[in-house]
Amino acid sequence: MSERNDSMEPAKVSCEVCMAEVPHDDAKSMEGSDYVLYFCGLDCYDRWADEAKEEESGE
Ligand SMILES: [Zn+2]
Repeated sequence: MSERNDSMEPAKVSCEVCMAEVPHDDAKSMEGSDYVLYFCGLDCYDRWADEAKEEESGE
């Protein structure tokens, strides 16, 4: 992995699932009432959605 110290780099966000940094423009976002989650792609979004579903049905 090579990181550049470029002060002009575009805004990046961290994927909620795999923690990969992705450009804000490319990230899938999921907005809740008082939070925003970002995903590097639909694969991670699906994984997150599956886990959220399991947590909800835990009762
Ligand atoms: Zn990801």
